[in-house]
Amino acid sequence: MSDFFHPKTEHRSRIDRTCIYCAEKINKGDWYTKQTGVWEGDWFTNHFHDECFKDLCDNGDDEFCPYSNERPAKVLDVPAEGGNSGSGVTRHSTE
Ligand SMILES: [Zn+2]
Repeated sequence: MSDFFHPKTEHRSRIDRTCIYCAEKINKGDWYTKQTGVWEGDWFTNHFHDECFKDLCDNGDDEFCPYSNERPAKVLDVPAEGGNSGSGVTRHSTE
């Protein structure tokens, strides 16, 4: 039996979904990570929060218990200090 995984793909969800990792909702319009492949002979399609997929990869273990993991804190790509925590956009008035 040869299990394999396709490379993950990222999508913006058109419907509400449930993350297979943490069982929390992936809201319509949110980005999520999709992975398809074959596991023990069966095709699967899994949907993850991006941070959940990262957490799974960081664990270095392909196996996990569906719907029973802690959702990790989302890591934002913003500087830890100095930025404002709002929109991240600085507007300059020219008036
Ligand atoms: Zn999740």
